[in-house]
Amino acid sequence: MRALPRLYIIIPCYNEEEVLPLTSGLFLAKLKELVDRGKISDDSRILFVNDGSRDRTWEIICRLAESDEHYMGISQSRNRGHQNAVLAGLMEVKDQCDITISIDCDGQDDIDAMDEMVECYLGGSDVVYGVRNNRDSDTFFKRFSAELFYKLLNWMGVECVFNHADYRLLSARVLQALAEFKEVNIFLRGMVPLVGFNSTSVYYKREERMAGESHYPLKKMLALAIDGITSLSVKPIRMITSLGFMVSLLSFIGILWVIISYVAGSTVAGWASTTCILCFMGGVQLLSLGVIGEYVGKIYMETKARPRYIISERTRDRIQKNEE
Ligand code: UDP
Ligand code: MG
Repeated sequence: MRALPRLYIIIPCYNEEEVLPLTSGLFLAKLKELVDRGKISDDSRILFVNDGSRDRTWEIICRLAESDEHYMGISQSRNRGHQNAVLAGLMEVKDQCDITISIDCDGQDDIDAMDEMVECYLGGSDVVYGVRNNRDSDTFFKRFSAELFYKLLNWMGVECVFNHADYRLLSARVLQALAEFKEVNIFLRGMVPLVGFNSTSVYYKREERMAGESHYPLKKMLALAIDGITSLSVKPIRMITSLGFMVSLLSFIGILWVIISYVAGSTVAGWASTTCILCFMGGVQLLSLGVIGEYVGKIYMETKARPRYIISERTRDRIQKNEE
């Protein structure tokens, strides 16, 4: 029988002194429940990532770590944002764990969905997305803006799972592959699908925050969307090129019109030539910008130095396993 997987629950925390005392116990109870049910090994851990909090969050984490060996914590040198905090946690444990589950610390994501996630992993999935199946607990505005967020991302060519935030299970080999993505602007939701491997989704109901306030006001959400688009897609640059084509076409029609007007003699002296040049230059400039942009886009993608391929299985390993 294969050994039980070692699970690390990764929890980013930023100014969460109000909610951490409430939820930390729930995470531990869930971990112990999974251990008792023989799903994960007893050396599984809960890793809090303090994202440069300005309140007593780190103090609380340290105290938790002293109180029970299942709690651990790391702290970022400063506030780097949710995505970086999650990545820091994942990279911290990638060589010790078999699986990780990342989850917010505010109790909004249903902890019980972890059972099914682990079950999916045992069934052969390397990535399990936690997808919320309703947004009843969100305000109308949050619901609307979130919907727009996913639409915009998809429209701009960023592949990501609808209504999936950062509650997900990742296996160790996905983490190893993710470690090869060297980009500085990170948007995990868009990167994980690029890594590939078997994936499934688990649905859960999203609750309201247990305490404290959301750190994702519209401004941060917009920043995340822009980051997501510009770090994963060159579509905006392509749009400039298309615009250039369109303007060029319109200019061409404009020029024809100007020439006709000129021949018909219904123009003021100098107007025809000026307008022609104006139309022509506008189109040419946008088009050139688009072409230059295309190359900038290529350079941008290259400088990321992403792995060109990721191998998920090898027959050699399979044979070795069979021989054992
Ligand atoms: N978070 C973080 N760094 C930040 C902002 C948020 O680590 O700069 C954490 C926060 O502690 C929480 C999670 O990210 O665990 C999600 O944040 P929040 O609940 O405020 O966002 P919302 O659920 O409202 O989108
Ligand atoms: Mg939240």
